[in-house]
Amino acid sequence: MVVMFLPKKPNLLQSHNPLLSRLNTEQIKNHLTQREDAVETAVSDMSTSFGEMDLDPLDISFAPPSTTSSSSPGSVSGSASGSSHGDTPGGWAEKKWLETASGKKIELCGDARCDSPGYSAKYSTYSFQDDATKEIVHFELVEVTEASSSVAMEVMGFQRGLNHLLYMGVDVGVMTTDRSPSIRKIMRDTYTNIHHEFDPWHVNKSVKKKLVAASNKKENKDLQPWLKSISDHLYWSCASCKGDQEDCVRRWKSLLHHICGVHRWEENGVEYTCHHPAMTEEQQRRKKWLQADSPAFQALKAVVMDKNLLGDLKHMARFKHTGSLEVYHSSMLKYAQKRLHFRYDSMRARTQLAIMDHNANVGRPQATTKEGESRYRYSFSKQSQQWVAKPIYERTKQAFRHDLMERVLTRREDQSVVYSEPLRCRKTRQRRLLHNIAPVPRPDKADLQAGHSSRFKQ
Ligand SMILES: [Zn+2]
Repeated sequence: MVVMFLPKKPNLLQSHNPLLSRLNTEQIKNHLTQREDAVETAVSDMSTSFGEMDLDPLDISFAPPSTTSSSSPGSVSGSASGSSHGDTPGGWAEKKWLETASGKKIELCGDARCDSPGYSAKYSTYSFQDDATKEIVHFELVEVTEASSSVAMEVMGFQRGLNHLLYMGVDVGVMTTDRSPSIRKIMRDTYTNIHHEFDPWHVNKSVKKKLVAASNKKENKDLQPWLKSISDHLYWSCASCKGDQEDCVRRWKSLLHHICGVHRWEENGVEYTCHHPAMTEEQQRRKKWLQADSPAFQALKAVVMDKNLLGDLKHMARFKHTGSLEVYHSSMLKYAQKRLHFRYDSMRARTQLAIMDHNANVGRPQATTKEGESRYRYSFSKQSQQWVAKPIYERTKQAFRHDLMERVLTRREDQSVVYSEPLRCRKTRQRRLLHNIAPVPRPDKADLQAGHSSRFKQ
């Protein structure tokens, strides 16, 4: 990945660096070991040094290696570890993943990350994660000049990325996203063979919001003690139905019986019971059940039986989450802070580094004390008003940086590589980015200045 910058850095590697030119592969390894500390320092500072690269915005020799027919001419596709040699459309890491994914039904999660809060995002990164390994397997970087809004950027990234993966032969069985209406529509209309799942967290959030609003009304205050249980019940319905969509909906609706103190009921001639252990008479007496004819119950019923929600539940029966993608997005801040401006190629390289870091460390074990006990940190949740324990994981390993440096040096040793020419794959597709993010060309300077003056005169 770093190699793609080599043509722009002739002074680093193109010239006869006496140290590098004398090194063979074995020496490179020794060199890396000896310089471990120096490398650590240099690479840990990458986040700033990349920003200093003096790339000419008009230079399109760094156009991405995306060669799939599915992507639009301006698209940038990236892989888990970037396209360091440009040997596949998505790079060596994606190639490796594609080999392991071959012949399997793959379940993916996808989510977008905007580089700034609100609607002023310049870039949107849409990431695809393999649900089995939690590794990021593909990303699409969309610039605001390519789409009309943040939402449109997300949709564009999603569709390009999914098209790319399908084109590469990935057999996608399940795609989990949030409930974005545009992506739902695309999934429904275009990808009819892929099952679309929604992250229950997003759905639960909106259900909770409606219930909190209802319970704040004086006549519905009896709902308030039930809010947390209702939220837990939604998760339980999705988690326990074992993928059975009808059962998921049935379990969710059973709430309306339980909350009235009824734990056994009949529906279409079939008898159902609650799944909790039998309650003692004392428990039954003490619980503040709702009355079926109370306004609180009616308000709850309206939310529980909402047609859209019941439809959404069928997309949540497999209990898939995009939560670990959000963890990845927050760790991406290490490489690309939201409030700093980066040029396109820098943003792309930063994303690739973040993915390499994530993939190298995903699934690391929980840290333990000297006595071998699992470590946790404890924090007070403002939302739930409760103390919660969160696991502490082992420190991340940064060995991928050494691997990266080794690849750079090994490539430098390869006499067949000519650094003075742009990489072949980058010549075939050229990305055309605008000078700025304005959708219309700048008016004449004189007109703008005249407008400025007239505003102040008024
Ligand atoms: Zn019950």
